[in-house]
Amino acid sequence: MQEIPLWYWLIVFFGFGACVGSFYNVIVYRMPRGISLINPPSHCPLCKKRIPIRYNLPIVGWLWLRGKSACCKQPISVIYPIGEGLCGLLGALALYSAAGFGTDLTQPVLSAETWANAAAMFWLLLGAYPVCAVDCKYKLIPDSISVGGIVAGLLISLVPGGITPLQSLLGAVVAGGGLYLLGWIATKVLKKDAMGFGDVKLLAGYGALMGITGAVETLLVAALLGILVMVPYGMIKNKAAERAAKNKNAPENEENGQIPFGPFLAIAAPIIYLWGSTLLDVYLKYVLGE
Ligand SMILES: [Zn+2]
Repeated sequence: MQEIPLWYWLIVFFGFGACVGSFYNVIVYRMPRGISLINPPSHCPLCKKRIPIRYNLPIVGWLWLRGKSACCKQPISVIYPIGEGLCGLLGALALYSAAGFGTDLTQPVLSAETWANAAAMFWLLLGAYPVCAVDCKYKLIPDSISVGGIVAGLLISLVPGGITPLQSLLGAVVAGGGLYLLGWIATKVLKKDAMGFGDVKLLAGYGALMGITGAVETLLVAALLGILVMVPYGMIKNKAAERAAKNKNAPENEENGQIPFGPFLAIAAPIIYLWGSTLLDVYLKYVLGE
């Protein structure tokens, strides 16, 4: 393992990512239809025939069949291999960012810390996708990502070099507890539900991966991203509402509720994991002049 160069591991991580993407394809297809994820095993949705394992390989299966099912020659959407390819790229990016951008691809990966960081980044990048998709559509965050993040963070903290298990535990408790308290206060002040419990669990997971400082930075960057995106979005929406008000026949603008915050947290987290301390240094130097 000492001799194997980085480029080889990048291909392996691409493969892991593509497999996760393939699993996401299964979830996206089965969950809304109320089909179990494991049973029945992979079958053609049209003729119900079993799909042999070799055609289930991410990307390769689709290319092998040239986009048509083996059983009944129906076209298979190109969206599937594209999704798998994107998840594969995220997987490779996780390792490449952990090894340090610009690292020589022929060098072996030596430190346990790099592997731990690669595992954390893999979790953060591939978890961001379902958080964004599910939170925007259903206004909830899957427990497998948020609670799973707490477990993943605690496990990764056992690898020496990063944060300690105690820092990880404190990170989860303080980040989750702090956001819960913020949400509770905001709910009292605004007299409406201001913060979902999914966001609390998600930030607790980021606290377990990055410690208290990382979780606080993630929250701040997420809030900043939220403002940058939601202010112009709100203005466009108001314009549309004004136009609709002029046109009496237009339907009422029904959706005026909560803005999902999970996607902003999920996008901020890997940025902070990689560059949190650099951003903090820059902030202290230029903004506070220290
Ligand atoms: Zn078929």
